[in-house]
Amino acid sequence: MQTTLNTVPSKRNFMLKINDMPWREAGLRYHAYGFAMRRRFGQRVQKVSIDAGFTCPNVDGTVAIGGCVFCDNRSYSPSRRVPRTNVTAQIDEGIQNLQRRYRVERFIAYFQPATNTYAPAERLRTLFEEALRHDRVVGLAVGTRPDCVEDDVLELLTELAEQTYVSVEYGMQTMHDRSLAWMNRGCTHAAMIDAVARSRGRGFEISAHIILGLPGESEEEMHATADEVARLGVDAIKLHNLYAVKNTPLADQLASGALTLIDREQYVRMVVDVLERLPADCVVERLSGDAPPDYFVAPNWCLEKAAVQKAIDAEIERRDTWQGRLHRGGARASECIELHPCSKIE
Ligand code: SF4
Repeated sequence: MQTTLNTVPSKRNFMLKINDMPWREAGLRYHAYGFAMRRRFGQRVQKVSIDAGFTCPNVDGTVAIGGCVFCDNRSYSPSRRVPRTNVTAQIDEGIQNLQRRYRVERFIAYFQPATNTYAPAERLRTLFEEALRHDRVVGLAVGTRPDCVEDDVLELLTELAEQTYVSVEYGMQTMHDRSLAWMNRGCTHAAMIDAVARSRGRGFEISAHIILGLPGESEEEMHATADEVARLGVDAIKLHNLYAVKNTPLADQLASGALTLIDREQYVRMVVDVLERLPADCVVERLSGDAPPDYFVAPNWCLEKAAVQKAIDAEIERRDTWQGRLHRGGARASECIELHPCSKIE
């Protein structure tokens, strides 16, 4: 049964505007998420996180045991997965918290922890539609694994995307199967290629999460992942460095000295290298990692998000570069537009 949802301009119309590369004219060096959302909704929009009680096929033994090495997946154990409260109550609480920090009136309902398509489509419909009926919610974002999107779930997301903004965020992490095996992701990059192929053209946005600084990955291999993101033609990207939180195999490996993490200078350089390789219309949702300090292990530099952002902006300025400058598809930034000093719209 369909419900009436809050509507936004259709994706087709929006993409035509994006193709004009308005972020360049606004003086930005990359297609920042805040800018893209303001253009789409005409105002600031913030994601409000929802924990619907899902687990993960990488945790319950369906595809792997133990979960990804960086994931504190004990809390995703099937026996412990019950939603904190119902979806509407979580949205209300999340909005209250966000409005203490930001002046924002409209929100994207973000089904975030664990694998948010790991349930029958009818169960997902109930949850997603409850979120979309909230009067402050103008869209839906769903975080998931690329090997966990059945055709009937894609059909549901397609149907919802005909009525409102929908983004599906796939944890791609890297294109290198060696690294995916190291992190115990439980599937190869072929799953991402397949998920994107089956998701494309359905009216919802496709976002890829990428981790820079995976052990043993050379800079050339990180560049190859950026080129692969471009080749896949996803609509958006989230970048962060590999960081460790408590109670994870990664934290144990760090404590034993078995590996070291990327430093800030290299991360900043890699972020800018990636931006240069992305198509100019790919929305950049995030450029750094995030974890509560009391839960965090290392590296300490990534807790200083403002400093990381400042360093990225400075590196972009130093190179006098911009998103898409080295994109192999030829989306070289327009020579006719004078770029102003880098500024990020929040
Ligand atoms: S796929 Fe996501 S939820 Fe599952 S173990 Fe890996 S990081 Fe955790």
